[in-house]
Amino acid sequence: MNKQQRALVIGGSLGGLFAANMLHALGWHVEVFERVGDDLATRGAGIGTHDELFSVMRRLGIAVDASIGVEVRERVCLDHAGKVLLEVALPQMMTAWARIYRPLKDLLPAAHYHFGMNLDRVEEDADGITAMFSDGSSARGELLIAADGIRSSVRSQVLPQAQPRYAGYIAWRGVVDESAVSPQTHAAIFDRYAFGLPIGEMMLAYPVPGRDNDVRPGHRSYNFVWYRPCDFAKKLPRLATDASGHCHGVSIPPQLITLGVVAEMRAEAKALLAPQIYEIVERAPQPFFQAIFDLESPRITIGRVVLLGDAAFVARPHVGMGVTKAALDAQCLAQSLAAAPGDLFAALEQYDRERRLFGTRVVARSRRLGAYIEAQLKPPELRTAEECDQRPEIVLREIGAKLANIDELAAPA
Ligand SMILES: Cc1cc2nc3c(=O)[nH]c(=O)nc-3n(C[C@H](O)[C@H](O)[C@H](O)COP(=O)(O)OP(=O)(O)OC[C@H]3O[C@@H](n4cnc5c(N)ncnc54)[C@H](O)[C@@H]3O)c2cc1C
Repeated sequence: MNKQQRALVIGGSLGGLFAANMLHALGWHVEVFERVGDDLATRGAGIGTHDELFSVMRRLGIAVDASIGVEVRERVCLDHAGKVLLEVALPQMMTAWARIYRPLKDLLPAAHYHFGMNLDRVEEDADGITAMFSDGSSARGELLIAADGIRSSVRSQVLPQAQPRYAGYIAWRGVVDESAVSPQTHAAIFDRYAFGLPIGEMMLAYPVPGRDNDVRPGHRSYNFVWYRPCDFAKKLPRLATDASGHCHGVSIPPQLITLGVVAEMRAEAKALLAPQIYEIVERAPQPFFQAIFDLESPRITIGRVVLLGDAAFVARPHVGMGVTKAALDAQCLAQSLAAAPGDLFAALEQYDRERRLFGTRVVARSRRLGAYIEAQLKPPELRTAEECDQRPEIVLREIGAKLANIDELAAPA
């Protein structure tokens, strides 16, 4: 009987869990190592989904029914006075990060998942690969899957030239309980995907499951993501500086963002956005922001290391594809391994070819969709026609469009 193959998965978020479950189902022995010390389900964020994400979940045996999210049937763009500029029928399922995490985590036998394990470095030899952790322990396998996100420690060791690139803007985010939304705003936008397009900016707001992933009317939440240009050297450090004067680099914990910075953002929301959307921004109890970066890797397999999910490629969130891409990466890896039994490196070549092509294309598309926001940091005379184009009819159709409808992503190599 063949010896059971061992895979070490670094990072126990969605990418790591998709990969671990896929390989476990294939008969591999998997061990997941997550830096954070306890359950990640409290990570809150609303996410757009694609049908392909649900296909991968079903393939793993996870039930996908109406409780998976909140469906929006149409999109509406409102001007700053709250007048409807455009309506488009375009159904999409919106869910919450934790609603995908929970079943994936529960599916993997608990003994294979290790919290509080920070990877320091990897060492590869002819027979296998060893992961070394900060607590002095180590683990060994035939394959190491780096699912440790955009700042991947594994990638920085094996592919140091691949670095995240700042997009020139940030996303303010926040979420409000359905019960806190006024009846007028509820009637105007709650069941819809609402857009606001001040010059050079992009505001998206949509319903998501509420606390404990509740999708019952009255118990849901409404989420916003507001993309705003932000100079990396001049403005970002001020936003990321807490009340004690300490600057947190590009990412400050939400509770440390100063009241002044939040008040300034809300005042600008009042001036620039529809009153219905402003109400969401005003009532969100703890708005926070994320600097937007993207990332391309010149290779996504290096020896016995596989880069997967955000560790491999990060597209700007306009394509709403991060979680779906991580799921498809994991599926492709499992299929490549199944198709080349006994030839690990042939399987990895196949994975590298397929997923690198997809990653490159999806990053290019997301840069195009965000080009007009990024261009705000350039003098107007240097902006191209594409960088000036933020027509609602384009934005409403292209943001988070269905994967099957995007020719540039579906086309064969
Ligand atoms: C503003 C915004 C909006 C978004 N909207 C959407 C959307 O609508 N739809 C969508 O699909 N996606 C969206 N995304 C993207 C999505 O959140 C990510 O693509 C997805 O979570 C990627 O998962 P991952 O597992 O690859 O990486 P991550 O979720 O980043 O997980 C990496 C894990 O590795 C762990 N780790 C890191 N270093 C180490 C180490 N040294 N040792 C051990 N563990 C380590 C971390 O703790 C973490 O748990 C959005 C992102 C942003 C910023």
